[in-house]
Amino acid sequence: MNRLLFASLFIFSFMIFSSFTTELSPQKSYSKADYQLDVLKLRAQLGTNKSFIPELELAGLIALHHFPELKETTIQFKYSNIKTTMATRPTLSSLCGDQSKRVYIIYVDKKIKKNNGLLANEVPFNALIGLIGHEYQHISDYEEKTAAEIASLGIKYCNKKFKKKFECETDHAIISRGLGWQLRDWAVYDMVHSPASDKYKAYKKENYLTPDEISNLILQNKHYRQTLDAEAYEEMLVFDLE
Ligand SMILES: [Zn+2]
Repeated sequence: MNRLLFASLFIFSFMIFSSFTTELSPQKSYSKADYQLDVLKLRAQLGTNKSFIPELELAGLIALHHFPELKETTIQFKYSNIKTTMATRPTLSSLCGDQSKRVYIIYVDKKIKKNNGLLANEVPFNALIGLIGHEYQHISDYEEKTAAEIASLGIKYCNKKFKKKFECETDHAIISRGLGWQLRDWAVYDMVHSPASDKYKAYKKENYLTPDEISNLILQNKHYRQTLDAEAYEEMLVFDLE
């Protein structure tokens, strides 16, 4: 993306109506050092029915701030051998029962196969919040769906076009939650800086919002105005995946 286009976006960004679904102001970056002393307080405030993997707990709690509707929802993080960094599913037994008592598992990959992926515990802190936010957004969507609708989603997900639409809509929703910078940091790490293979990065660019696309949405969203300083604009110019 060239500088002229960015300058135009800067001028028009505050004039465009943009959706926002949280009262919480976006933050450009959450620092681990700022929050780790408050982990007990955060756990008491946000940890009801949640079971975290210790190394992901702080990022998981901070991301939960942006999902007040998941306050009572049962969510468990578990290590597993999966093909992606994280994947979320309701348990089969809870899917068959009362919709209000569903149990969701966020599976976290524990071993990379052929350099084709990333491990969550190697992801920078702010980016990790974006990644976990993406999984929470799936849970929030599943909460609105019946078991039959979730089963049908699982079938439709095999379709390449549907998968891209579904994942990009999820990313859009995260930006509206105020986690746009965290999602962007995740996309930058995932698709640009990480040691993952080119094949993996190409797959991610194909199916999820890219750093440039997220930057544009942040610029267009008036709720991010207070996070946009000169440094933020400079940072946005660095990546061009075209
Ligand atoms: Zn997803």
